[in-house]
Amino acid sequence: MISKILIANRGEIALRVLRACKELGIATVAVHSTADANAMHVRLADESVCIGPPPSRDSYLNIHQIVAACEITGADAVHPGYGFLSENAKFADILDAHGITFIGPTAEHIRLMGDKITAKKTAVELGIPVVPGSDGEVLPENALEIAREIGFPVLIKATAGGGGRGMKVARTEAELEEAVSTARSEALAAFGNDAVYMEKYLGKPRHIEVQIVGDGAGNAIHLGERDCSLQRRHQKVWEEANSPALNVEQRMKIGEICASAMRKMKYRGAGTIEFLYENGEFYFIEMNTRLQVEHPITEAITNIDLVHEQIRVASGSGLSVTQDEITFSGHAIECRINAEDPRTFVPSPGTITHFHAPGGLGVRVDSGAYAGYKIPPYYDSLIGKLIVHGRTRTECMMRLRRVLDEFVVDGIKTTLPLFQDLVSNEDILNGDYDIHWLEKYLAAEKADG
Ligand code: ADP
Repeated sequence: MISKILIANRGEIALRVLRACKELGIATVAVHSTADANAMHVRLADESVCIGPPPSRDSYLNIHQIVAACEITGADAVHPGYGFLSENAKFADILDAHGITFIGPTAEHIRLMGDKITAKKTAVELGIPVVPGSDGEVLPENALEIAREIGFPVLIKATAGGGGRGMKVARTEAELEEAVSTARSEALAAFGNDAVYMEKYLGKPRHIEVQIVGDGAGNAIHLGERDCSLQRRHQKVWEEANSPALNVEQRMKIGEICASAMRKMKYRGAGTIEFLYENGEFYFIEMNTRLQVEHPITEAITNIDLVHEQIRVASGSGLSVTQDEITFSGHAIECRINAEDPRTFVPSPGTITHFHAPGGLGVRVDSGAYAGYKIPPYYDSLIGKLIVHGRTRTECMMRLRRVLDEFVVDGIKTTLPLFQDLVSNEDILNGDYDIHWLEKYLAAEKADG
């Protein structure tokens, strides 16, 4: 059994994991950089260890420091949250070598899904439908031949990709050479690996992803899907569960395809299988072998605590529920609240002077922010997540509108005003949007001044 968990993360997700540990009676260790000494996750943990200066590579990504912090505090497990070391197979290997439990999948599964070409091949073998594309790496010399076979427009993507980086569209043959070379150099700069592959560029898809959890011994379940089509620069902004585009049969069908694939893999832990969805068809794009930012909307409609399940399977206790026991109730929406200008998205670090989080039935705020909190400039700009649940999508929208009016964050700029606009928009109210909708909306807003 796990008795003490070191949380190798910061911000709202560190707090989220900490809450689950407390509920399960597990002791907690927070780690932090010198910039985060006053952070909420540090204040609420049973113990804390400073692991280095502000830059992530010297603290939150510093494996030696984190392992040393485990040894000093006697932590027997590590929860990596998302980002940072959560999908780092070497980290999982090192913890294993030190007899510390990594709360996540095996290093082998992290590696398999971390390389997108291998991930796609694996998906095909497991019976998951994929986006038509190259079988493997694309090089400048074979790019044209492959693109003609797939048919324009095509998308060049980094094998090591993440966060939408190293991705370039070529609409015509004339654009191909440059798209391949820019994607390769962006990939090299971002991931230290210039390998790219090619996919059919889908025109108007939705981004729909399936949440799964496996026990590592061949049992796995799905918890339905999330629609994350509202994106800016390939980054999610607003997510909802269920997807307004799917009916119950479609949900259960794609869910079962994913759960069955995870049973075949003997996958352990929580994971997300991401698809593009167009004209009634699903196309696998990638799998994330960790907890995701948007996991609370799934928790809202299933009433299952995903971090509890992660900790259970990591300690060998198996899943707490069977597929038959999972029910989907109502509708949930998450808004990602970033410390950014709501129009230009320029980061707005600084001190929060007033902070009032909304409350009431069906409202959850996951945030480490408080009045007087100084947002350090070194990390991503997510300062909180607002999750609203209602019996129907309409009720959820009505509640969201009320809750956004109640939310106060003063002293810095946030993306809250963007959500106030979106919640009254007709396309959004109708659930009528694809992955390009938000970019087009923002461009039109800008043109209107
Ligand atoms: P990353 O790992 O960098 O986030 P993904 O493969 O998950 O990359 O893709 C991120 C986003 O890019 C998707 O949600 C979608 O908006 C867009 N995208 C990816 N592949 C395609 C494709 N073949 N056609 C159109 N859009 C795509």
